[in-house]
Amino acid sequence: MAATVVAHLELDRPRCEGHGLCEEAAPDLMHLDDEGELVLDVTDISEQDLEAARTAVRVCPVAALKLA
Ligand code: SF4
Repeated sequence: MAATVVAHLELDRPRCEGHGLCEEAAPDLMHLDDEGELVLDVTDISEQDLEAARTAVRVCPVAALKLA
């Protein structure tokens, strides 16, 4: 059974500067591609991923990530 989704992770792409601090905080949820563009691998956040997602949102220096 799929885990219950408790939040959605969103990226405000124009804001993102591609430093990858979020990727370091939550490598299972996102990665930088070969061009340095952030790719969200998981946007439906389960309870299990919530702490990592929150940390990624917190460490982003330009507030490009949002949990809704
Ligand atoms: S930390 Fe913020 S600015 Fe840096 S790659 Fe992640 S979303 Fe983009």
